[in-house]
This record gives sequence, structure tokens and C-alpha cells, in this order.
Amino acid sequence: MALSTITIDDLIKSISLYHQNEQDIALVQKAYQYASFLHKDQKRKSGEPYIVHPLSVAYILTTFARADINTICAALLHDTIEDTNCTKEDIISNFGLEVATLVEGVTKIKGIVFSSREEGSIENQGKILNGMAEDIRIILIKLADRLHNMRTLEYKTLDRQKAIAQETLDFYVPIAYYLGSYRIKNELEDLCFKYVDPEKYLVTKNDLEDYIESTKEETLELIEQVKKVLLDKDITCRLTYRTKNIYGVYKRVREGLKVSEIHDLWAIQVIVKDIPTCYQVLGIIHSIYPPFNQMLKDLIARPKTTMYRSIHTSVFKENGRLIQFQIRTPEMDEIAELGLPYYWDSPNVVMNEELHNKFQFFKSLVEANQYANSTKEFMDEAKSDIFTNMIYVFTPMGEVVELPEGSTPIDYAYKIHSDVGNKMEMAIVNASVAGFDRKLKNNDIVKIITNDSIEGPREEYLGMCRTNLAKRKINEYFKRKEKEQIDVK
Ligand code: MN
Repeated sequence: MALSTITIDDLIKSISLYHQNEQDIALVQKAYQYASFLHKDQKRKSGEPYIVHPLSVAYILTTFARADINTICAALLHDTIEDTNCTKEDIISNFGLEVATLVEGVTKIKGIVFSSREEGSIENQGKILNGMAEDIRIILIKLADRLHNMRTLEYKTLDRQKAIAQETLDFYVPIAYYLGSYRIKNELEDLCFKYVDPEKYLVTKNDLEDYIESTKEETLELIEQVKKVLLDKDITCRLTYRTKNIYGVYKRVREGLKVSEIHDLWAIQVIVKDIPTCYQVLGIIHSIYPPFNQMLKDLIARPKTTMYRSIHTSVFKENGRLIQFQIRTPEMDEIAELGLPYYWDSPNVVMNEELHNKFQFFKSLVEANQYANSTKEFMDEAKSDIFTNMIYVFTPMGEVVELPEGSTPIDYAYKIHSDVGNKMEMAIVNASVAGFDRKLKNNDIVKIITNDSIEGPREEYLGMCRTNLAKRKINEYFKRKEKEQIDVK
């Protein structure tokens, strides 16, 4: 269904798939009528009535995040404070404080998009990240808003298209990734790619479509085969499939692979009732198709930092082509679909401690925000430590730690805790002693040995670490020490 055809009935139908409450539906109707009235004289660049936009944003939130009623109402009203004469007080009296606070949160982040190099953009992005720490729903509305704007980007001038697409790729795509909102991330990436590099986009899209076309039949057959084998063994299962997004394929091609060599271009999801059955299915699949060894990932035992869980294994089909299986339980499948919103158990979603720790990206953001003296300082840290290529290493207990590429044991130690950094005596990487300036790699197992008699970090550590976080904590230590000395004098 084309999005411009979204109506209030579509929205209500979509809500009722996961939430049934007449009063709540009536509130959504009211928000729709109110927003329609306020925007009645405005049109989108496409020529459509303006209300199509908030309606689409609300609809996206129901399908991508199963948003709660207040978030849906806020999405319908998200442009009213900025673009009409409606005030926060008006929204409070009609829809309550929570909806009004959400709308205000979205409004604070200006609608105007700056190209990523402009100062205003940094200010704006800083506000988005701040808002996120306040209430995660603000950023979800903003993501849905950006997704709909990207879907309708053709109506902007070429310059604006490129600037908006580039900013989306640099800023919104990583956020969608960190939230585990893979569907939003994938769609945004492809839309951005189309505007940022139209030629490569088209070539990749055609190559991908050709490959899918020529392998679709055999893939569907394989799915039937596997289903039959599993049912014969009395394993109740649901099988679905997906193909990699265009930008994802392009990234592999850029690394030198042919489209046909991408091991997870086709992925088949096998959904079974519980974790032991997942491992049983893994064994069955490997007994039919030989696995491509390096590509076996047990993300059930070691979930991604986005909380994504599955067993991934890429195997060789009879004709030698690779295909990926993703084996998981229904709960893991929902997490894969929804990402962080899966954890919403109450309509008031403030990130709690537990979620902060699970989603390391949040913890980093909140911390950076606490210590930064200005938006610029905050964004410097966010750009250096969060909006960059990441590596994933392990603690000796098998927990994943997310670090920017180029990080060293010093960065790791400070990410674990200031005390670990300040008292570190030795670093052990994959069971052998490593220099403090050793560049860590994906899947390294890192252990830091601390010693209480160590006074603190040495000054040269500053040149041996990569993250802003470690540098900030080391500098904090020296400042504290300096202050103590002055106090003693
Ligand atoms: Mn908007």
C-alpha cells in the first residue's frame, strides 16, 4: 500500500492488531480530527493535504514499534505547536500532560534539517540525543517523522535531498540500529543511498533484484524441504525469509564480494518454541547442509548489544551457494522486529537502569550528557564514541562490550568503570599479556588486572586511548589530584 493512501481507518486497524480499548481509540480519533483541523490550510510539497504526514508518522509507529496510545496521539499532533497556532496548553487541556510533553519534546528538535557540517545541525542533533535520554518515545516519533520525510523526499530540491539523505545516514541510521529497529534502519539506508549515490544505488539494486529473481525458486523449495524435515521430527516451527537490503549488499560489494558470494543475502528465519529446540534445529540443519564455519554465530548465548538474539549459521546448499539460517524463539523474533520498543511494558517509558545497561549506547549517551559542559562537547563525544564504526569484544565472563574501532585496553577499562581504568596494572587479551596501546579487534576477550596500590593513570595513557570517554576520565583524575594538592598546600 502506498503511504499517501493511509487513512485514519488504516491507522485504527493497525492499532487494534495489538491494542483494543474503545476509549483509547476515541482519543486517537480526537487527535486526528484536532490535527486535521489545525493543519486544514496547509499542504505538503507533494500537494497532498498536510494531515497525510502526521497520519503516516503515527501509522509507521504502530507498525514498527507498536507504539502506545499517547505516542500515537503525539505523532498525530507532532507538528501542531510548530506549524499552527496551537499551544502546549491547548494540548494539555485536550489530551493531557504526557501527550503535550511528547509533542513539545519533538518540537524542540527543529523541523529544519541542516547539512551535517553546519553548526545548527550539531545543536539540533544534541537536542535529539538529550530528548532521547528524557523519554525514548520522543526519538521514536522523530525517527518515524524522518522515515516519512525520506519516503517523500522526491519533492524537495536536489541540494536538499542530498543534505537530508546524508544527515539521515550519518545520524538517524545509527540511532535506528542502536535501538534495534532494524526495519527502520534498513529502509532508511536504502532511501538515503538512493539520493546520496544514485548511480551505485541503481547498479546494486538491479544486481540484487536479478540475483533474487534467479534464486527465489530454489530458496522457496529449500524452505519447504527444511520445514518437512523439522515436522518429521515433530518440531513445530514457523519459517520466514528476508533478503538483505540494497545498502547492506552494497557495503559487501564495496569490500570486494560478488552479490552471489554474500553469505546472508538470503536469510531464512526458523522460529521454534524454546532455546533447546533452537540448538536442536541447528544440529539438524548442519546435518543436511555443511556449515560455512566462520559464519556460525551464537547470538542466543551472546546477544548483540541491541538485545538481538538468534543463532546465525550460513550453510552451503546442494549447488554450492550460501544461505543463512537464523534460528530463534517467538520472543526473540519479536525483539528482532521491534527492537527496544519490545521492552515497553507500561505506557510511560522512561529508560530505567536495567535497560540503560543492556543498551550500552544509552549508557554512553547519558554519561556523555552528564559530563559535557556544552552541546558541542556532548556532540564531540557522541560523534567520537558512538556515531562511528564499532567493534565488539568480550569480558572474561562472556559479556559483550561495545567500543569504537581503534580502542585499546585503556578504553575498555574505563568503559567498564573509572576505578578499573585508574587502577589497571596489566591487560590480557585472548590469554596473553598485551600492551595498553594494543588495538582491540572484534571478538577479543579482554581482562584487566587491577592493583589497589596503583595510584592512578599515567599521563601517557592519554596518547594511548581512542575514546573521548577514557580521555575525559583520565583528565578528571588529574584535575582531582591537582585540586587535592592545592587543598593540602
Ligand atoms: Mn513532521
